[in-house]
This record gives sequence, structure tokens and C-alpha cells, in this order.
Amino acid sequence: MSQQTGFEQGPIRPPSEANSLLIRVTRNCPWNHCAFCPVYKGTRFSLRAVEDVISDIDQIKKHIQRIQLTTKDGVIDRQSIQLLWNQIQAEEEASFHAALNWFSNKMVSVFIQDANSLIVKPAHLVTILTHLRNCFPEIKRITSYARSHTIARISQDDLNQIRSAGLNRIHIGLESGSDAVLKLMKKGVTQKDHIKAGLKVKQANMELSEYVMPGLGGQDLSHAHALETADALNQINPDFIRFRSLAIPSGIPLYDMTEKKIFTPCTDMAVAHEIHLMIKNFKGIQSVITSDHVLNLFEDVQGTLPDDQQKMLGIIEHFLNLSPQEQVLFQVGRRLGMIRFLSQLNQPSLREQVQTVCNQMNITPETVDMSIQRLIQRFI
Ligand code: SF4
Repeated sequence: MSQQTGFEQGPIRPPSEANSLLIRVTRNCPWNHCAFCPVYKGTRFSLRAVEDVISDIDQIKKHIQRIQLTTKDGVIDRQSIQLLWNQIQAEEEASFHAALNWFSNKMVSVFIQDANSLIVKPAHLVTILTHLRNCFPEIKRITSYARSHTIARISQDDLNQIRSAGLNRIHIGLESGSDAVLKLMKKGVTQKDHIKAGLKVKQANMELSEYVMPGLGGQDLSHAHALETADALNQINPDFIRFRSLAIPSGIPLYDMTEKKIFTPCTDMAVAHEIHLMIKNFKGIQSVITSDHVLNLFEDVQGTLPDDQQKMLGIIEHFLNLSPQEQVLFQVGRRLGMIRFLSQLNQPSLREQVQTVCNQMNITPETVDMSIQRLIQRFI
């Protein structure tokens, strides 16, 4: 028997899981060596006891049942919730918040935390998923992060059983399909592992979401990063390809590699060329491309392959063909959260506001790359 640890949620979820209930089955990352990753550095990985996870699910169920009693026509009555809150013990506050948040978001989806839940023994994961489904049969989607290295080593039978128990979407941090980039970044996987894992997830009839990191090859490996990532994804044909651009905060190994000139980061312009090359080389796949991360320069480079391929390439070409001054306005406006789409450059008042900031901060085409690095730090 484990010592009960109380309700827990981890620090990270994908942007697309903002409305999901977070259920933590492991703590931190069992690999934790990726040079670009700041998330779990300095922490130790551990598995949570199955009974603790079950207890978390039961707490959520208890709160949801009480919240449901306060609703009229599905709408929460604030006064009744306040009364409920007044009765909550201190140790139940976190689970009550999680339940209320999930209920407000219609209880559609659950995200299993932390970085690589598939490392849990398949039988244990099946027990947890089955309990979750039994408690909340209305859930449409249960999702988790997983490493390709781990999935490549799970038997197809076990993966199928995990799917049958309810896990129906997996997010994999592919980051790159280039072995040289993966090695430099200490990702601990190869292109072959990525392809094997991706195909197994699809074989298990789970939705597959692959995260790609523009800029990860730096200047030296940008070309290989674009082409070999496209090659890997062409062999996998995932349901989703999600862009999440590289950022380099201090305190991560890649920061030191940059200081020591082992790694030279790409400029925005180089990343734009890189994404263009990658998208141009997607062939024979039907994936949905999303760009829902705040660090991405192009939020509107999204769509479904192959129909939207030319449209996405056109957006990047539009940016590359702007004058240097116009490019600066877009880069700075985007990083300040003032501009989301290239088309907004047509709005005179918005242009004027961004130009004022550029003047105040002395940002010009010559200094923009350094300034962008400073602005990006605000989002990390
Ligand atoms: S496997 Fe994922 S969470 Fe773990 S260090 Fe690498 S990027 Fe970070």
C-alpha cells in the first residue's frame, strides 16, 4: 500500500488541452536530457501509485456530483457554488477547482500527465483509464504525451488494450526527423524510432499528434531539419502536425551550447525559409497542420494537407517578399501580441502603434534579431 499523497496536477499540458481535466499518473520526465527543454530540469521522475490516481479521479467525481446539484438547466448557480466552496476542506481545494473548471468546460476531454505516461505498466494504465471511463462515460477524448522511444518498445497488443480502455489521442514530441538534430539535442530517439512509434499509434487506432520544433537544427542543420522532418512525417501521416518554435531561455543546456558557439540559432527569416521548405516537402499525407503556440511567428500557417498546402506556402512567401521594414513591423507586432496575422499589417493604426514601439526600442532591420530574442523571453 502506498501512503496516500493527495490530489496532484502537473505543470504542463499542450495548448489544445486547455479545457481538459488533468490527471497525473507520473511526475516529471523519465528522460529529461533534451537540450532545448526547460520544463522538468532539476526534478526527479516518479510513478504515482495507481490507488492515488484512482483516489484523484474519485475526488473529481464527488465534486462533479455536488456541482451538478447546484446547476439549473446545466448552468452553474454562483451562490450555490460559493456555499459548496465554504464547506470544502483545505486539502480538497485543488481538486474542487479542477472539477469546477472541467465542469465549466463541458467535461469533454482528459489529459493524462506528465511528460511520458506510456511508461506506466500497460496493465496499470488500463486500470486507470477504465476507472476514468466508468466514472465519466461522457468523456469524448483522453489524451497523453508520450515519447517515441517508449512507444516503439511497447507491444502492439498492449497499445491496442490501452486504446480499448480509452486513450484515444497521443501527443508525441517528434521535434525533428533528422538524426543529426536529434543527436545534437540529446532527444534520445532516432528518425526510425519516431516512424515506428507513429505507425504503431495509428495501428492502434489512436489519433496521433506530432509536435515539430522549427529552428531546432540551428543555422547549420536547418536544411536537413526541414527535409528529414518532412520525410519522417510523410512516412507516418499523423492526424496532426503541430508547430512549436524553439526558444532558448537561460538555464537550459542549449543556452550554454549557444554561448559556446556549438549552436547558432536561426533568425526569424531562416525559420520562415525552413518551415516553407518543410511544408513544400510534405507529400502524400492528409495531416492537419496547426500553429497554436504563442512562440510561432505564423499563427495562420495552418490547414489540412494537401488542400491547404499552397495557401500555407503563400502566407510564408508573402512574409519573405515584404520589405525589411515591413518584416520588422510584423515580427515585433507578433511578439508583442499586437498582431496575429500578416493581413493586419494593412491596418494603419496598428502599424503606427508597432512603429512607435520600434522607434522607442530602436528596433531596425539590422537589430531586429537581437530584439526578438529579448521579446521572446517574455513568453517562456
Ligand atoms: S522528453 Fe519531453 S519533457 Fe522530457 S526532456 Fe525531452 S522534451 Fe522535455
